[in-house]
Amino acid sequence: MPTMGVAEFCFTAIVLSSFAGGAVPMLAANKVISLGYSLTLLLPIGIVTLNSEQVYQAQLGYVVIPLSLLMIPICLKTSEFTQGAIRQRLLNNQLVIDMAQEKERVAAANRELKATSAELNQSNSILEQEIKKRTDEIIQISNLDPLTQVSNRNAFTQNLDTIIRASEHNKMPVALLFIDLNGFKKINDAMGHKVGDQVLVTVTQRMLAFSETSKVGRWGGDEFLVILPYSDKQTALSISKAIIKSIEKPIEVNGNELHLSASIGIAMSPLHSQSATELIQLADISMCEQKENGVWAPGMFTQALLAKIESSQTILEGLQKAIELKQLSLHYQPIVNSAEHRAESYEALLRWNFNGTLVTPDNFIPLAEKSGLIKEIGAWVLNRACMDAVHWPNSEAASVSVNVSVIQLMDDGFIRHLDNCLQSSRLSPDRLHLEITESTFVENEQKIRFQLDQIQQRRVKISIDDFGTGYSSLSQLQTLPVNFIKIDKSFVDNVHGKGEAIIRATQFIARELNCQTIAEGVETKQQADMLFSMGIDYLQGFYFSKPVPHKALLAWQESNQPFTKHTD
Ligand code: C2E
Ligand code: MG
Ligand code: MG
Repeated sequence: MPTMGVAEFCFTAIVLSSFAGGAVPMLAANKVISLGYSLTLLLPIGIVTLNSEQVYQAQLGYVVIPLSLLMIPICLKTSEFTQGAIRQRLLNNQLVIDMAQEKERVAAANRELKATSAELNQSNSILEQEIKKRTDEIIQISNLDPLTQVSNRNAFTQNLDTIIRASEHNKMPVALLFIDLNGFKKINDAMGHKVGDQVLVTVTQRMLAFSETSKVGRWGGDEFLVILPYSDKQTALSISKAIIKSIEKPIEVNGNELHLSASIGIAMSPLHSQSATELIQLADISMCEQKENGVWAPGMFTQALLAKIESSQTILEGLQKAIELKQLSLHYQPIVNSAEHRAESYEALLRWNFNGTLVTPDNFIPLAEKSGLIKEIGAWVLNRACMDAVHWPNSEAASVSVNVSVIQLMDDGFIRHLDNCLQSSRLSPDRLHLEITESTFVENEQKIRFQLDQIQQRRVKISIDDFGTGYSSLSQLQTLPVNFIKIDKSFVDNVHGKGEAIIRATQFIARELNCQTIAEGVETKQQADMLFSMGIDYLQGFYFSKPVPHKALLAWQESNQPFTKHTD
């Protein structure tokens, strides 16, 4: 180098510096190599030139040495940066690899999931089919009456609702028939449930001839319902008659020929109601009305029928509180002996002051009997009548005659109550007469006989009320312990006509049975005279007196006047 010319020297110095500077980024990945390379290129020339005798060379030495020193931080920094970049890149690469692996894992998991989900879908659809099958079976079971295989209450009401909704669209009427069998209970009781079941199945099959299975329902027991879509009143009535006829055909069970009939009530939608449950109620009401009236023909619902039921409901609700509110009272009507017109007994007739109106028994006794309230009311009447009778003045011999309903008489507690009344009132039992209507004797013969014997053992007297209207058999009557026969007003009304023969026949029977006769509803002197001439023992009617309140009766008894003429 000392021998080099200036140009040659400068050229060499520039080349070395360029190599050192240019190598820095190239070798930056390793700071030792980078630094070593740069310093190896620059430091020797710097040291040599610094000690050179050539001035220009020494001057260059002053430049090269600081440059070498400057190269140190540059190398270190560049190296640090490059290493950082490489590290980052390596890291990124790893991340990419990791991500690829992760992606592959996720894809594998997805594939697995898909496979499992396909399997699940398959078993799900099998399960769904099974559930649907079971659900269908359950719906079948819960919608059908197990015996007759027609709709039960729930399903029928739903069907009816759907049909009513559909009929609203096509504006066609729907008729609903409520069918109740007559005579089924007897067959069931007498021949057993198995026969009863067979009868119900046969009856259902007969009904199915008139309507589809989904439109026939069993309401319970021997009650059925039939929907007749597109039927007007006339069609519904005709089909109902045909159903009754078909039910009335003999039913063969185990070689026995059984006979039934049916009562049918009809309600129409939309005319009477557009609600399924209400329509069923209305058809039921119409059916009950038919049954009650003993009409074995179909009956169409009417608003008048509903009004009647509502008024009965009001009466019944009022009647429940009548005793408590002291609205009941007894009126008394004398029963006079026909020769002297002297009152020998007084019939107690119940009156009910309901919201200021005096309601007569015909309007509430049947309802009280139907609801069972008659037991309570009858007990009150018997007690009141005994209490009143013991206070009657100057009439030691006058008896009190109390009407007793069959339901009251059949009650097991009746005799006990009778004893209580006699004991607490201290009324002599022979001053008490119990009036029992003739129709009572038609059913429950044994129990009636037992109760009447009990009554007679207590020396209480028994009258058969409304005689001639009840179809009781004479053979039955002749063994019953009866003291009086009360000839019904309908015969007394006709005493100058056809009634005479019946009254004479009754009198003949009474004599045979060792009874005395009382003619009810005597309204005129002619009737009274005629009945007296016929030999009737006692007379009762408006001709002598209308039934009067107890206070009025007491005043009358005090006055000691005979009943010779009509007192209004
Ligand atoms: P019943 O026992 O045959 O009583 C006679 C009915 O005929 C009474 O009607 C009486 O007021 C009426 N009557 C009497 N004489 C004449 C007359 O000359 N002309 C007319 N047109 N009618 C006459 P009432 O008081 O309305 O009683 C009707 C029925 O109610 C009674 O018929 C009886 O079966 C029943 N009843 C009355 N009170 C009671 C009771 O406390 N318990 C029960 N279970 N039934 C009663
Ligand atoms: Mg009576
Ligand atoms: Mg009577």
